Amino acid sequence: MFDYLIVGAGFAGSVLAERLASQLNKKVLIIDKRNHIAGNAYDHYNEDGILVHRYGPHIFHTNSRDVFDYLSQFTAWRPYEHRVLASVDGQEVPMPINLDTINKLYGLALTSFQVDDFFKSVAEEVSPISTSEDVVVSKVGRELYEKFFRNYTRKQWGMDPSELDKSVTSRVPVRTNRDDRYFTDTYQAMPLHGYTAMFERMLAHPNIKIMLNTDYHEILDIIPFKEIIYSGPVDEYFDFRYGKLPYRSLEFKHETLDKPLHLPSAVVNYPNEHAYTRVTEFKYLTGQVHPKTSLVYEYPQAEGDPYYPVPRPENAEVYTKYKKLADETPGVHFVGRLATYKYYNMDQVVAQALTLFKKLENKGKPEKVLGK
Ligand code: FAD
Ligand code: UDP
Repeated sequence: MFDYLIVGAGFAGSVLAERLASQLNKKVLIIDKRNHIAGNAYDHYNEDGILVHRYGPHIFHTNSRDVFDYLSQFTAWRPYEHRVLASVDGQEVPMPINLDTINKLYGLALTSFQVDDFFKSVAEEVSPISTSEDVVVSKVGRELYEKFFRNYTRKQWGMDPSELDKSVTSRVPVRTNRDDRYFTDTYQAMPLHGYTAMFERMLAHPNIKIMLNTDYHEILDIIPFKEIIYSGPVDEYFDFRYGKLPYRSLEFKHETLDKPLHLPSAVVNYPNEHAYTRVTEFKYLTGQVHPKTSLVYEYPQAEGDPYYPVPRPENAEVYTKYKKLADETPGVHFVGRLATYKYYNMDQVVAQALTLFKKLENKGKPEKVLGK
């Protein structure tokens, strides 16, 4: 008899498996329908021996010391600050938009103060700011919105930024200085030997059994367990009772070139050209030295594996109904990007999983200990 059946071996499922096994001595079965652990963060050496991320570029960044310390038990790190260029008007310019972006794009030599004035002069007054269009036009005006955000977003999400919640484009800041890092978090690093190696160490506990190539439906009636931790899509768990929650998908096209380096930076975004949104060159991320180089192109799709919850009010409404159902389902705990329908980064999923662990841990404690 297992104490927990954990569905999904991504960050959400693996963090819980590790905590429950190592801290509470629980017997855990973690399963995944894919043929590997690590969920969407899975990386592997391709046939040319280059470390690549099968499901698109994963860059670790967090402001949470707790999350960073927790993961540091399972991996050493390679310091890495991510930089992205956007191909706009025939030039490759820094993204997020910063002082250099504006100067290069328009052939100017503005200072930080002047670019701040420039943004103010082109910004549109929008109130309230509720959509992904509002966020951008209220900061940098319509022209820059159209050059950098409108078409990228339409391609990525299959809908106009005006139809998406403000949280989507709010992920990308606008700067008046020359900082060209994609993230400004306190901790920015890549697992030194890759994500999969980190997951292998997390799951290497005698109380944890791993079963791959297995959908949980296949084993529900065969393997005895007490409780479920579920990190798959929440609507699927409830047989789409309130309809399908939309998840945006991607097709990843991997390519290896017979030269050591190809792109001018780790990622180049293509808001206005091509069917793909961005190209990533893995060696920038991993620091690997190799005579060849591997890239991935991301082609957004409506159908396929669910990768992105789609943040917009009508979807939030449907999710609220599923959330109520989830809360009322005893013995099943929903966690992760798909099961809680949240556009979460890896660190946010780790934090969410650690919070659920605390709840499970406290459930077993007498109340007076809880009150301490
Ligand atoms: P997942 O990793 O999706 O794991 C869920 C697992 O459940 C999957 O392996 C799935 O196969 C399994 N599963 C589902 N249904 C079943 C079933 N019925 N039976 C058995 N198994 C099932 N985050 C960052 O912090 N930085 C980044 O740079 C970054 N880049 C990203 C790029 C892309 C293209 C994508 C799609 C995401 C990116 N993310 C990034 C987000 C990151 O991938 C997620 O936050 C994280 O992987 C979510 O972990 P999870 O465990 O919730 O879900
Ligand atoms: N975005 C954009 N142009 C860009 C980069 C991002 O319009 O050059 C928008 C787009 O809607 C995207 C969102 O900002 O989905 C968030 O970007 P991020 O790079 O965080 O996306 P992710 O890495 O999660 O795919």
